[in-house]
Parts: sequence; C-alpha cells; structure tokens
Amino acid sequence: MRNISTLTVDGFMEGVIQRNPAQEEFHQAVHEFAADVIPWVNDHPEYQGHNLSERLTEPDRIIMFRVTWQDDSGRIKVNKGYRVQHSNAIGPYKGGLRFHPSVSLSVLKFLAFEQVFKNSLTGLPMGGAKGGSDFDPKGKSNAEIMRFCQAFMNELYRHIGPYTDVPAGDIGVGGREISYLFGQYKRITNQFTGVLTGKGLSFGGSEIRVEATGYGTIYFMEDMLRHQNQSIEGKTCLVSGSGNVAIYATEKLIQHGALPVTLSDSGGFIHDPDGITKKKLKWVKNLKEVRYGRISEYADEFGVKYYPEQRPWSIPCDLAFPCATQNEVNAEEAKTLIKNGCIGVAEGANMGSDAGAVAFYRKARILYGPPKAANAGGVAISGLEMSQNSIRMSWSRKELNTHLGDIMRGIHDRCVKYGTESDGHVDYIRGANIAGFKKVADALISFGAV
Ligand code: NAP
Repeated sequence: MRNISTLTVDGFMEGVIQRNPAQEEFHQAVHEFAADVIPWVNDHPEYQGHNLSERLTEPDRIIMFRVTWQDDSGRIKVNKGYRVQHSNAIGPYKGGLRFHPSVSLSVLKFLAFEQVFKNSLTGLPMGGAKGGSDFDPKGKSNAEIMRFCQAFMNELYRHIGPYTDVPAGDIGVGGREISYLFGQYKRITNQFTGVLTGKGLSFGGSEIRVEATGYGTIYFMEDMLRHQNQSIEGKTCLVSGSGNVAIYATEKLIQHGALPVTLSDSGGFIHDPDGITKKKLKWVKNLKEVRYGRISEYADEFGVKYYPEQRPWSIPCDLAFPCATQNEVNAEEAKTLIKNGCIGVAEGANMGSDAGAVAFYRKARILYGPPKAANAGGVAISGLEMSQNSIRMSWSRKELNTHLGDIMRGIHDRCVKYGTESDGHVDYIRGANIAGFKKVADALISFGAV
C-alpha cells in the first residue's frame, strides 16, 4: 500500500489528473484540499499507510442515466441524469441536485467531493453526494418542469432512500422541483419517508431550511468578525446571485444592520447604493420565486443602475458574498475587492472564488470563509430535517434558528482549532480542510480496507 507521507501535493495531483482527465473543476477542488491535508498527514503518522488520499478522491460510485421527457408540444426530449455518491463513511449520502446546462460529471464530482467534508464539518452524521442534470429549467412551463422531475425520479428512485442517500435542492432545484420529485418517489415506491430534504412544510419539510444556507453564510461571517472583535453592523456588502442563497443572505444582512447593495443573475448585476431594503427584497422574492423574472427588472422598478454581462466585484465594499455559482470571482476581481477596502469574503456559493482569487485573499490575509464552512448551514438544517422525519416530529422555527447559529459557531470553532497560525491569524481554508478530513479519515481507518 502506498504511504501518503511519500507523496508530494504535485505528485499526488498528477495521479488525480491522470485518473480523471479533462475534469478541471474536480482537479481544482482536490488540489485546494490536498495542498492543506497532505502536509498535515505528513506530520501525523497515525494517518499514514492507509492510502487515504486516493480512497477519498475516488467516489464510491457514479450513477449516470438518460432522462426522457415530453415538452408541451409533445416533442420527446433527452437529458443526462447523474448521481455521484462520493462517500458514506460517516452517514447516508447527502447532497443537492442541480439542474443547469453547465452540469457535467466534473462539476458534480467537485461538488460531491466538497460535500463530504462540508457535511463532516457540521458535526452531523451525513456522507457526501451530489447529482443533477444538464436540463435547463429557464423558459420551461410548470408542466414541463413537472414532467422532467418525474422522468428524473423514474430512474433516481432505485438509488436513494432515507438510510441510503437523501438528495436536496441546489441551483435550479427549489421547493417546486423537490415537491415534484418527492411526489413521484412516493408514487413509485408507495412509501412516505424522509428521502429528500427541502420538502414543503405540509409534507415533512423543516422550518428554516429555505433560509438556512443564506442565513448560515452570514452567521459564519459574523463569527469570523466577532473573533476579531468586529461586527457586521453598518458594513457595505456585495452579494452576487438572486436565487435561494443570495436572497436569504441579503435578508439576514438587512436584519443585522448591514447594507447590501448588489444582486445579480446570469444576465448582469444591479447596484443600489442606498441599500436593498426589506421591502425591495420582498419584491425580489416575488420576482425570482413566483415570476421567475430577471434581476434587470429591479433597476427599472427602483431606478438604479444595471450592469449587463458584468459581476459586482468592482463596487467598493467592506464584505463580499459570492452566492451564485462556481468560479465567479477571479484573481483580478479579488485584487480589486481588496484594493477597494474589502476585509472579508464568505462563500455562499460552492467554489464561488477561483484558485487565483483565493490565493489573493490568503496573501492579503483578509477574513475568508471557504464554501465547505460558510455555506454548510443548508445541509445542516437538511440533516435536522432528516432527524425530524425519523422521529416524526417538527421543531419550531425558533429552535431551528438557534440550532443553525450553534452549528455555524461549531464549524467556525473547528476551523479556528485547526487553522490558527503562530501569530494568531486564522487560515479558515486550512482549518476547514483538516477538520473536515479528520473525522472522515478516522472512520475510514476504523473500517479497514473497504
Ligand atoms: P438558485 O436558487 O438556482 O440561484 C442561482 C443563482 O445563481 C441565480 O441567480 C442564477 O442566475 C445565478 N447563476 C447561475 N449560474 C450562473 C452563471 N453561470 N453566472 C452568473 N450567475 C449564475 O441556486 P442556489 O440554491 O441559490 O445556489 C447558489 C449557489 O449556492 C450554488 O453554488 C450552490 O451550489 C450553493 N449552495 C446552495 C445551497 C442551497 O441550500 N441551496 C447550499 C449550499 C451551497 P440565473 O437565474 O440567471 O441562472
């Protein structure tokens, strides 16, 4: 068996790239992780000799299938469907489903890999997975979305279950899609179980799940600021995206006295220098959750500037929250953020900042909450939705919000434990990678060669 201590990060990455050719997002996620974990393992002999690095970068299994559905004019359409079950070392597979034309095996493998360590960091017993389709929900009718979700579940149902794999939502999969998916699962299996999270409140969903990722990202930023005796109040904030995570991150910023000034979608961004208020955000919720409209309409409605085909990072701010999709902040944009006075970034999105941007944050030593820590609030409340389904009880909004705050603080403190440097600076990426790895590695070592 190869000993991890004999590996360098570059040597290890060579093997990863060879075994997973042309999967750039996956390489990027593994490299970020390996750069922290391999040197740590080299200093901890008890983690050597188990080939953990290779075991943890090879998914348990990947399921790929055809999804055949009919559009409103009766034409037969075909999309790709996937479920990457990366690791169930510490609990049933758990992770979202993404419906977006950019979905590929590389994107889902990076997301499933990240999910393993994110779920571990929450302290809850959940393994890691991710799935989805290259189906584009934009411009589709409700009936088409329903038929697609039903066709997707016609295959997925045989691979999931409350003790096997419990999917949730992600980009393009919100409450409406989870409801269609759950309805079809129930119809096929004749079972009412907690097989999906993010369900409606009337059929086993949990209070605060919708808000949890966005709220949790802001709680994490507040924990980082508190660690430096600062607060979020009065801080000017950039938010990208205008979907689930962006909307509820903005809501929490408003509630806690910060000034969110941007939102975006794949068409461009709006800048509202007076701040996005509670009333304006209510309008955005209707725009995005009911009318499925474009963020450019905000500019017309409230008389502010819209920047087509641009991202918000050139606007001066104190804090930035990428909440749309992967690789939406590059090195140049990170440099601009820092030059303009940004002191902290927390990732609502997965891999929101690319490797070059992250290198700048690290060099500038600003507060940086990596995705596996900062956006773990959603999956944490999903974990609690599973608990509530198991005991057939529902906890109150207040209780769950308290749990969310406590879980985010727990994640923060684990990052501090493993990421604090000799001068007191906290490298939250390193802390999150090592704390997330350690729990999964302990389980794998106990299992022996499986
Ligand atoms: P969502 O509700 O579908 O919203 C996604 C937002 O991102 C939309 O505003 C969308 O704009 C924008 N977007 C998508 N692709 C884009 C692109 N290529 N360029 C610019 N903007 C783009 O999804 P979400 O649930 O908020 O997820 C957002 C991010 O958070 C993802 O990285 C996801 O993995 C991560 N995350 C989500 C959860 C969760 O609980 N939902 C948990 C953890 C992490 P358009 O409408 O124009 O496409």
